[in-house]
Amino acid sequence: MLGAIEAGGTKFVCAVSNRSLEIQDRVSIPTTTPEETLEKVFSFFDQYELEAMGIGSFGPIDVNKASSTYGYITTTPKTAWKNTDFLGQMKNRYNIPIGWTTDVNAAALGELEKGAAKGKSSCVYLTVGTGIGGGAVVNGEPLEGFGHPEMGHVLVRMHPDDDFEGICPYHKNCLEGLASGPALEKRYGEKAQNLTNKQNVWEIQAYYLAQALMNYTLILSPERIILGGGVMKQQHLFPLIRKEFNSLMKGYVNTPDLDEYIVSPGLGDDAGITGSLILALNELD
Ligand code: ADP
Ligand code: ZN
Repeated sequence: MLGAIEAGGTKFVCAVSNRSLEIQDRVSIPTTTPEETLEKVFSFFDQYELEAMGIGSFGPIDVNKASSTYGYITTTPKTAWKNTDFLGQMKNRYNIPIGWTTDVNAAALGELEKGAAKGKSSCVYLTVGTGIGGGAVVNGEPLEGFGHPEMGHVLVRMHPDDDFEGICPYHKNCLEGLASGPALEKRYGEKAQNLTNKQNVWEIQAYYLAQALMNYTLILSPERIILGGGVMKQQHLFPLIRKEFNSLMKGYVNTPDLDEYIVSPGLGDDAGITGSLILALNELD
């Protein structure tokens, strides 16, 4: 059996599958304190004989194997989880190989193997929700360096009609500070869900997201860009983003057809847990 955790700031999804990645059982656990949450995680996995596990975690996390805090959740705004040795506690309990990367890298991996980027060797996965986070798979491997990408915090030009100061605690008006769900809520004084009919809101939103996607394209040349997360439930954003992307790029890079290039997750909300199972499978090779 393979075990996987998609560890989010709101909930932990845990699942077990066979080697063909068919999920046999799953559970969703609210994210509270590490002690309370991990106790429930353990009581789920204790029922199974696991060969390997994969974890896609919210972060920032330490992914550097040479570091003394490898496997830790590090500087997260979720204070109870700051400096938590998440991977270490899982290894202590199960003593099996455990793959470890960010939630969005895992989602990118899931989409590459089984979702909207199936058959490709690279993709970017961006979630636009409570925060904005992006991961990438390049040549079939999650992209990491000294740490992991933080694509949600890239800098963007302000829209001429927008004087919002931004809400990122580190950078104020980075992409996350301007275009996350809470940024929309702060700027317009209404839940993002209720802004559907305000055309100007989504034109500005598309302006910011398209700039970010242009930058990812220029730097990584991914074969697909997949946009998930709560805010992207506004499906009408997709054509607006493609249009802005086009007018910013001005044909400089000959991308795949934008209807196929900038897309929704093929796995819906299961991208992260599927990718985490693939991480587990990769540990066995
Ligand atoms: P999380 O980022 O916590 O994993 P989500 O991806 O669901 O969870 O993101 C939650 C954010 O997405 C909230 O800020 C919420 O306002 C926004 N959101 C959720 N559903 C919608 C929707 N249908 N339209 C616009 N925004 C939405
Ligand atoms: Zn930021």
